[in-house]
Amino acid sequence: MTDRSTVAVVGAGFSGVLTAVRLLLAPDGPRVVLIERGPRFGRGAAYSSASPHHLLNVRAINMSAFAEQPSHFLDWLGRTGLADQGQAFVTRDRYGQYLQSILRRAAGSGQNRLVLEHDEVKRLAREGEAWRLELAVGKTVKADAVVLALGNLPPPLPDAADPALARSRRYAADPWAWDPAAAPADGEVLILGSGLTAIDIALSVHAARPLARMVALSRHGLLPRRHGETIQPLAAEGPSPAGSPADVLGEVRAAARDDWRGAIDALRPHVNTIWRGWRLAQRRSFLRHLRPWWDVHRHRMAPSVADQIDDLQRRGLLEVAAGRVRRLTADGGGVHAAWSPRGGGALIERDFAVAVNCTGPRADLAACGEPLIETLMADGLIRADDCALGLDVDSRSRAIGRDGEPSPTLFAIGPIARGRLFEVTSVPDIRIQAAECAAAVLESLASHSSSGPAGARQEGDRTLGELSTFLTQSIDELNVELASLKFARRVRNAWELRGRRSAFAEIVLWLDAHRGK
Ligand SMILES: Cc1cc2nc3c(=O)[nH]c(=O)nc-3n(C[C@H](O)[C@H](O)[C@H](O)COP(=O)(O)OP(=O)(O)OC[C@H]3O[C@@H](n4cnc5c(N)ncnc54)[C@H](O)[C@@H]3O)c2cc1C
Repeated sequence: MTDRSTVAVVGAGFSGVLTAVRLLLAPDGPRVVLIERGPRFGRGAAYSSASPHHLLNVRAINMSAFAEQPSHFLDWLGRTGLADQGQAFVTRDRYGQYLQSILRRAAGSGQNRLVLEHDEVKRLAREGEAWRLELAVGKTVKADAVVLALGNLPPPLPDAADPALARSRRYAADPWAWDPAAAPADGEVLILGSGLTAIDIALSVHAARPLARMVALSRHGLLPRRHGETIQPLAAEGPSPAGSPADVLGEVRAAARDDWRGAIDALRPHVNTIWRGWRLAQRRSFLRHLRPWWDVHRHRMAPSVADQIDDLQRRGLLEVAAGRVRRLTADGGGVHAAWSPRGGGALIERDFAVAVNCTGPRADLAACGEPLIETLMADGLIRADDCALGLDVDSRSRAIGRDGEPSPTLFAIGPIARGRLFEVTSVPDIRIQAAECAAAVLESLASHSSSGPAGARQEGDRTLGELSTFLTQSIDELNVELASLKFARRVRNAWELRGRRSAFAEIVLWLDAHRGK
């Protein structure tokens, strides 16, 4: 590239930093403008915490930022005086330092191609062939391609909550922007949700107010499971389970009899293929019925964190409740909550000093309160994926617009784009997507700079786009075909081994799983 192109990367958490780094490492690659509105680059929501209680929930051995250099993080830890940490769950603060060091090194080796902009992108619009990014201070940045690495959106106000609660200082809408030291000294803390974020908040509240009592309330009342004491080496990658969510569940259950952690970990490389192979109704069915169980087994607590949570529960400082919130109101300087317990029983009503929302990322993009996302939606440049988990992207991380066409120069990666790849929420998955996304960006810039006049370029883009869409659909269809073949085999086996009644039972199960599609 002689006339150097410019790529704007919006968001400097793990996803944005790794994409920027990959672009900077490309010989004679583009200029990269990395834009971050938060206080620090390379931290994002996950690695901003300075708390010694907030540990990674993945062992250091699996946290290299580069899939092709598995020991990269361990080597860096060694250089900072922390050798032999492979099995350890180091602090998230330390991981943030690691990311910042990677960014510094890439900037140093990138021929001064990195520009850091400390501001919020409010709007993104087309300007001829290029993009114009409007920053909060009024400045504009022009770029040939844009990567959206915006992370998770803060959780929405629960449906049953009084809208006035959102304005109350007794309600923390964004758990990462809330300071537990500001929790009232008396009264209980209501934690809405019981996943890993809820665990973090419970530990932070306990550190700030050691006698505070907390209730973690979620639909199923399930806490993340604990990691084993050591990591088991993974067996060679086996064949991917196929079929409906019920089929996959059956296979995982069978494999989990001896070692459930091993069974879940072995499934991990296949999750995105399985997800893409399911029809929409199957994905929705998984999200409705199986996701809470998947999440608690897949996203686990470090053993030392699990010990602390057990201790809090034993001492009566943390109660975990299962139920559906019916009412949540700001009430007399606190929060009044009413929920119906899971499995039936009378409505439970309690008063809390404060409520912290840890229910998970918002999915509704159209009214998410983020100016950048709302204007992109309104302009038809992005759309929500079918399951409303985030932005819709194609297999090359290109954002799909309202017209169903992938943009040749607008990309999205990380948890904000988890509709296509369900598992792009943690480092081992995002590092792969970041490398692929950077490669797709470079390819797109190369085709733009070499394909001559704008008209010819658009034709080329369309042909490439059509080819990519065709290949993606073919792979999805192939997965569906494989699932059908597998089903036919199951029915035949049932008939031959267990008789006609069993074969009919298989068919009924299948029909149940596919009803309403
Ligand atoms: C608390 C927590 C702990 C985690 N722990 C682990 C772990 O131990 N191991 C693991 O593998 N994964 C972990 N994860 C998963 C984590 O999501 C990923 O590892 C990864 O950090 C996600 O990075 P991201 O860059 O996509 O999002 P984020 O880290 O959220 O970064 C997005 C960035 O974009 C910025 N931004 C958003 N909008 C704009 C805008 N309009 N203009 C400018 N900037 C903007 C935000 O300020 C933010 O800094 C954890 C996640 C959380 C939330």
